[in-house]
Amino acid sequence: MKRRELLAGLGAGAGVAALAGCAGEAPADRAAASGAAAGSGETFNWKMVTTWPPNFPGTGTSAAELAETITRASGGRLTVRVFAAGELVPPFEVFNTVSAGAAEMGHGVSYYWKAQVEAAQFFGAIPFGMTPTESAAWLHFGGGLELWRELYEPFGVMVFTGGNTGTQMGGWFNREINSVDDLKGLKMRIPGLGGEVLQRAGGTPVMLPGGEIYTAMQTGSVDATEWVGPYNDVGFGLHEVADYYYYPGWQEPGAILEVSINQQAWEALPDDLQEIVKSAIGYVESRMGAEYNARNAQFLRQLRDEGKIEIRPFPDAVLEELRARSEEVIAELTARDEAAARIYASYTAFQQQVGEWLDIGERAATAARR
Ligand code: CA
Repeated sequence: MKRRELLAGLGAGAGVAALAGCAGEAPADRAAASGAAAGSGETFNWKMVTTWPPNFPGTGTSAAELAETITRASGGRLTVRVFAAGELVPPFEVFNTVSAGAAEMGHGVSYYWKAQVEAAQFFGAIPFGMTPTESAAWLHFGGGLELWRELYEPFGVMVFTGGNTGTQMGGWFNREINSVDDLKGLKMRIPGLGGEVLQRAGGTPVMLPGGEIYTAMQTGSVDATEWVGPYNDVGFGLHEVADYYYYPGWQEPGAILEVSINQQAWEALPDDLQEIVKSAIGYVESRMGAEYNARNAQFLRQLRDEGKIEIRPFPDAVLEELRARSEEVIAELTARDEAAARIYASYTAFQQQVGEWLDIGERAATAARR
C-alpha cells in the first residue's frame, strides 16, 4: 500500500516536472512528455553542435564519445547526434544555437563567445591562470561551476565542465622570439584574452577556428599560431608549416571545455536521463585529462625524434612583458564588467590558494625525482 502511494506520488511529480519543461508546446506534445516522464518510455533526440572539425582528436572525439555514452547508457531513450563545426552552424555560433534551442547541446570553449558574454572567458582560459588540475578543483569544489551557471542563466543555457585539453604550448612561430621587440607586428592566431594581451604587446591577434589554421600558416597570412599541445598540433600538421615551437602556453595554461545544454531541453528530461547525462559528462571529462597527458607526451617525443623543428622556451623578458600586459587586460575587463569582477575575484583567490598547496605537493614531488 505504501509502495503504491509512493509510486503514484512519483508519477504525479514527474508529470508536473515534464509539463514545466514543455511550456509553449502543443497540448498533444505535452501529454506525450507527461506520459514519458511517468514511465512510458518517450525517446528524446538531441543535436549536439560543436566548434570542432569532424572527429578532431581529443576534442571532437570527446564530443562523439559523450554522445555515444549518453545514447548507449540510456538504451536509446536519449539519442545525441553530433554535428562538427560548420555542419549545422558555424563554430562560433554554438552558444547562440544552444541558447535559442535550435540544438539541445553544444561542445566548445567559452572564450569563443566572448562577444556575447565577455566574462565567459574566465571559464575557458586565463593568461597566466590555472592549470587543468587547478581549474578542475576550482570548478568542482571552489564555486567556479556555480558562477558559470549563474552567468549563462539569462541565456537559457545550462553548463557543465566538459574536460580540459591540458597545459598548452606557446605555439608555432616562423619568426624567432628573442626579445620583447619581436612581438611587435607579429600576426598570430590566438583567441580570447591571450589575443588581447598580444595586441597590447604590439602584435596583431587573429581569431580563426581550428580548421583554418594550417592554411593560414602555410600561406603566411599569419606568422605564428597557438593551438593546443603536441597531440592536437601534430594532428593539424602544424610542424610541417613552422620552424619554432615555443613554450610555455602562457595564454592558456589549460583550456576548459564546455558542454552546454538548452535549459528547457534539460528540464524536459526525466530525472534518470538527467543523471545519465551528468554521469556521462563526468566520465568523458576525466578520460580527457588522462588522454591529453598521455598523447602530448607521445607526440612531443615524436617531434624531438624527428628533429625538424626547434623546441624553445620563451625568453624570461618576453614572459614578463606578457604577464604585465595580461594584468592590464584583466584589470580593464573586470573594471567594465561586474560579473567578470566577481568571477575573477573567486578565480584568483583560488589560484593563489591551490598554488600554495601544489608548490609543496605535486610540483615539489616532480622536482624531487630528477
Ligand atoms: Ca589554444
